Amino acid sequence: MTTATSHLDPALRAEALASLLAERGLIDQATVDSFIKAYEQSVGPMNGAKVVARAWTDPQYRARLLADGTTAIAELGFKGAQGEKIVVLENTPRLHHVVVCTLCSCYPWPVLGLPPSWYKDPSYRSRVVREPRQVLAEFGLVLGDDVQIKVFDSSSEVRYMVLPLRPPGTERLTEEELAALVTRDSMVGVAQVSGP
Ligand code: FE
Repeated sequence: MTTATSHLDPALRAEALASLLAERGLIDQATVDSFIKAYEQSVGPMNGAKVVARAWTDPQYRARLLADGTTAIAELGFKGAQGEKIVVLENTPRLHHVVVCTLCSCYPWPVLGLPPSWYKDPSYRSRVVREPRQVLAEFGLVLGDDVQIKVFDSSSEVRYMVLPLRPPGTERLTEEELAALVTRDSMVGVAQVSGP
């Protein structure tokens, strides 16, 4: 976006655009509302949490997920708009991934729902590339010097999701209990998953 209007409140811009499209009979407001509701309330980041919990408990699923994220995620029934190609990035004790869309706000909707406002913020988008360690610290995630940080830039072609580290002390938890621990931020890479 390079027009002068790009700094207007995105919510206002979206509203104006929706009104215009509805007025021209191109979209139906009820359809738009149901779409937003579905992604805000029904999808949310809980789908992604289920994917992570499955990967933590099923090594074969984990291998499939890392080899072909889109297909393995679809196995659990999660697919659709803005999820045509999802690549899953595995965190290790020595390697931490963080995801951004430097251009706009590309995000894997079928697993994480709609992006949070900070993800769309120009400051996050530019700074996390230049100074990821500092930005993560501002999120409350302080990583040791022995942990390498890799930043991945989501686009309309490929959307990334992080497979966070399974926290210690969770050996006895069920898949469902594990899923409840997984946060949206941990799947974007600006947080780690904490134990119960
Ligand atoms: Fe984008």
